[in-house]
Amino acid sequence: MVSRVNGLYIHIPFCSKVCDYCDFSVLSAPERMHGEFVDLLIKELNCLMKRYPGFRSDCETLYIGGGTPSLLSESLLLKIFSEIKNLGFSLSWKEATMELNPESCSKEKLNLARNFGVNRFSLGVQTFSKNLLNLVGRRHTPEMARQALSLLREMQSDGIQYSADLMFMLPNQTLENFISDLESLVGYSPDHISFYGLQVSPNTLLESRIRRGKLIVDETLYAPMYNTGVSLLKENGYERYEVSNFSKPGKESVHNLNYWCRGEYLGIGPGAHSYFEKVRFNAPTRYGNWKKWVLAGCPESLYEKDVLNRESEILEEIWLSLRLSKGLDLEHLKKKYDYDLVEEKMDYWVKKNYLQKKGNRISLIGNGWLMMDQVVSDLSP
Ligand code: SF4
Repeated sequence: MVSRVNGLYIHIPFCSKVCDYCDFSVLSAPERMHGEFVDLLIKELNCLMKRYPGFRSDCETLYIGGGTPSLLSESLLLKIFSEIKNLGFSLSWKEATMELNPESCSKEKLNLARNFGVNRFSLGVQTFSKNLLNLVGRRHTPEMARQALSLLREMQSDGIQYSADLMFMLPNQTLENFISDLESLVGYSPDHISFYGLQVSPNTLLESRIRRGKLIVDETLYAPMYNTGVSLLKENGYERYEVSNFSKPGKESVHNLNYWCRGEYLGIGPGAHSYFEKVRFNAPTRYGNWKKWVLAGCPESLYEKDVLNRESEILEEIWLSLRLSKGLDLEHLKKKYDYDLVEEKMDYWVKKNYLQKKGNRISLIGNGWLMMDQVVSDLSP
C-alpha cells in the first residue's frame, strides 16, 4: 500500500444540477461561467507554483474532483491539462484521477484526459434505481450510468483503472435495492468501489423534506446495509482498505491514501484544502469570494489556516489511521510524538470485539467499523 506522496487536487465547482442532498462547495452555473472559472483556476495554479516551487518535482498524484469535472467542455479541459503540462508537471503520474458523472461522460473527454496522463476515472453512479435517483434529485438515469460503465470497462484493457461510487441509506431504499445495486456494479468489474451512507445535511432540500415527514430514512438499515455490502464485495474480490473504500488487490487510491496517511498535498479551486509543512489551509469557499481572492493575486494572508501543534497532529494520526484497515501504528505514535494510548481504553474495545491489536498496530474489526466515531473519540486524548 503506497502512502505519503505529494498530490495536487483540482476542484471543479460546477454540477449540471445541485442534488437535493448536496452540501459541497458546488453550483449549477451557465456555461459562460466555466471559461471564466478555468482562467481563474490557471491563475491560482500559477500563484501556488511560484509559492511552492519544489512541489512540482515531488508531485506524484493528480485528482480532478468536484463538483463534476466532466461537465467542462473538451476545450476547457484541454486548457487545464495543457497548463499543468506547461508548468512542468511530469505527466507520468503514479496516479491521476478524474471524476465523472454519467450525464457528462463521453469517450472524447476520457481520451483527452488519457492523453495528459489520466490513468484512473471515478464515476458517480450512486444507484441504478430510477426512482431513487429522482428522489434525491440526481440528473442522470440508470441507462446513462450503464453506458458510462461500459465505456470505462472497455478502457480497462488499455491499463486504465476506474472506480465507481454508490450510496446507501437513501430514502425508501430497501436492503434488497442496495444489494442489487452493488451486484449490478460488481458485474462491470471496476477496480475500485466506494459506498457511502447518505448524510442528511442541514439546509438541504432533502433535509427539509425529511423534517416535514415527506420522506423517510430508515436508520435501522444502516448496519445491515453496510455489513452486507462489505461481505458481498469481499466475496467478489474487493478488500476494504478504508471504511468506505474497497479495491481489488493493489488498486487502492494512491491519492486518497495520501490524505489518510497525512502526506502533503496542494488543492486549487474554491474551498480546496491543502496540507503543507504542517499547515492545513484553504482558499475562500464561495465562488465570488474565491474569484476576488484570485484576482488579488491569491494573498496568503486570506487563507483559512490551521497550524497543527503536537496535540492536533496526534489527534489526526488517530482519527485518520483508524479509518484504514491497516489501522494505527502505536510505535510510530510513540516515536514521533512520545505518546501512548490509554491501555485500559484499548482493552475495553478489544474485549467488545470492535478493535484488534496485532503487534504494534490496532485496527477496527467487525461492528467496530459501525462504531468508528465512538471508538476513535474514546481513544483520542
Ligand atoms: S453531483 Fe455530487 S457534487 Fe454535484 S451536486 Fe450532486 S452530490 Fe453535489
